Formats: sequence, C-alpha cells, structure tokens
Amino acid sequence: MKVEVDTEPLRDTRKAIVEMMFSEGNHFCPGCEKSGDCDLQHMGYEMGVSRSRFPHLFKDRLIDFNPRRMVIEHNRCVKCHRCVEEVITDEGKKVFSFVNRGNETVVGIDYEQEKKLTKEQAINAMHICPTGAILVRGQSLARPFGDRKYDMFSAQKAAKEEEATPKTKKSAKKKTIATISLAGCFGCHMSMLDIDLGLLDLIEVVEFNKSPINDIKEFTKQCDLGLIEGGCCNSENVEVLQEFRKKCDILVSLGECAIWGGLPAMRNTIPLGECLEESYLNGMTSEAGETIIPYSQDLPKILDKVYPNNEIVKVDYFIPGCPPDANHIWKVVKNLLFGDHYSVLYSEFKYD
Ligand code: SF4
Ligand code: SF4
Repeated sequence: MKVEVDTEPLRDTRKAIVEMMFSEGNHFCPGCEKSGDCDLQHMGYEMGVSRSRFPHLFKDRLIDFNPRRMVIEHNRCVKCHRCVEEVITDEGKKVFSFVNRGNETVVGIDYEQEKKLTKEQAINAMHICPTGAILVRGQSLARPFGDRKYDMFSAQKAAKEEEATPKTKKSAKKKTIATISLAGCFGCHMSMLDIDLGLLDLIEVVEFNKSPINDIKEFTKQCDLGLIEGGCCNSENVEVLQEFRKKCDILVSLGECAIWGGLPAMRNTIPLGECLEESYLNGMTSEAGETIIPYSQDLPKILDKVYPNNEIVKVDYFIPGCPPDANHIWKVVKNLLFGDHYSVLYSEFKYD
C-alpha cells in the first residue's frame, strides 16, 4: 500500500479546515492578546490563508470574566480539547470540560477548581491553548510584540528567502493603478507608502489614476489594477466599489477589512440599532440635549453589517494584513502587472 499524506488535494483540505476555524469564530487578530503567539494564526500563515472561502458567522458567544484569574473568550476557542485533557489541579481534578452538543459545544470551566490552580498552572493553561481563548489577567501581554514565539520564526525565514526576489523590468507602457479606502482607516494606504525610496522605482513603471495618493477623485480612463482598502459599511461604499469593478481590469482586496470586514466588522455581532444608540444616544461622549441619531437624505445609508468586498462584487486577489506589509503589497502588484517572480514570505504575510 502507498499512503500519501502531502498531496495537493490534502493540503487544500487542511487549509479549508483552518479557514473554517477562522470563519466560525471571531478572530480579530489586530485586537487579540495572543497575536504572534497563536498557533492558529501561525497555521494560517504557513498554509497561505489569504481569506476564508466560507462566510464568517459572527456569532456572539460569551466572554466569561467569572473565573478568579482567567478570562475565557469563547469566540476564539477551536475546541481542540487540549485544556480539557491537560489542565489539572494538584488534587488531580479537571478544570475544563466540554458542555452542550454539536455546533453548540463550548468549553465549560469549573470555577471552584480554577481557583485552586497555582499562578504557574494558570499561565501554563494559557500557553497550552493554541488560540487566545484562555487568558490570564495581567499576564496575557507579558511577552512584548517582536519577542513572541512566531515573531522570531518569521524573521529567520524572511532573511533566507529575501535574496531570491528579482527586480521588475521596465515595460514600454506604464500600467495604471487606482486605489480607494472604503470602510478602512487608511492604514493600508500608509503601508503602501512604506516602501519609501522603492516608490521612485515603482513610479517608473506604473502611474496612479483615481487615488487618495495623488488626490485624483474621478477615473479618467480604464485602469489595469484597482486596490481596495476597507469593506462596505454604507451605500456609498457599495457604489464606489461597483465603479472600481467596472473601471479596473484586476481588482484586489487589500487588507483584513476589505477581505472579511476586519475590525469594523466587530459590530456585526451587535444589531445596528444598538450600535447607533450606543454611539449617538448613550455613549459617554454624547452631549446632554444633543442626543439624536443623525439622519439626512444626503448621508450614505448605513448597512445592516459590514460586508467583505467579494460579497458585493467579484474580487480577483486578496492581500492579507492589518495593514499588509509594504513589500508584500508591491510584490503582488508587480507580479500581477508584470509577471515578476513572487514568493510569499512569512514575515510579510500578516493578519495583524
Ligand atoms: S491571534 Fe489567534 S486567537 Fe487571536 S484572533 Fe488571531 S487567530 Fe484568533
Ligand atoms: S485549549 Fe483553547 S482552543 Fe482548545 S478547547 Fe481549550 S479553550 Fe478551546
């Protein structure tokens, strides 16, 4: 018998399972204490998950602050069973167990047994968890960014592969790029500028059309490539995105917000009415007597949730990151426009 364990279909199936984990939970890596130390995130980078092919569920599960020193974030649990098997008190009692059945299964915690864990045992439980589902108060950010488990790993790998990347050849005709920020923070645009002097080389081979980079507000011609930052949270975002789809031969979702909603999609677990009330009526900064929810025919209509761009129009490619690394962005662009050799470096492939 010949047993194959590393074929293309198997790799794709494994990748699909990891994508399902990202879609099933709420994994907002840029706001997660475990980022850089997280096995799930690391697996995503290793497998080249640039987006999930499954729709995000945006479930609103409990974040349990009741344990004495832990916080259990059920939206990040991947039900791996590690805590159930390995977190044991000195008296030999289990602290975690699974409760409920099927897709309602969650990790239950015995508050009395959790109290009996020593500080070291509690911290060990946090490290056993492959995601940021088990956190220990005051300890979850003890290791600074840059020193985290996979930060070191990425630096080594990048240095080794960097040398292999060749330079773009000048083509006779400049290619045209358009860019826009929809429900984003302009962080992806700032990242584009991070190639610094590399921009001078780039301007030799491409020109910008409609873009906040040059402040051209309307398309003046059909473009080769469109880079979209941010997803769609209102009717204007949808119209602009549809225009980009028409005017750009290749459309790329740039960054987590464009790919699946990103941090703005944190509101997707809360009904729109509650979000507006919290922002405009009950928020700490609302002025007494001025508490109205703004409405005007001229304002874009807010959508019920934040949508990834590929749920509105066909998107051809996805560049992950929050924001994506500048080198990663321009390598992808040069690959799409000029066919340059392109290899994905772990250090440039980031969700946070
Ligand atoms: S760092 Fe890990 S646990 Fe935290 S949001 Fe990202 S994938 Fe989820
Ligand atoms: S170790 Fe973490 S991810 Fe695994 S079942 Fe426990 S809480 Fe969930």
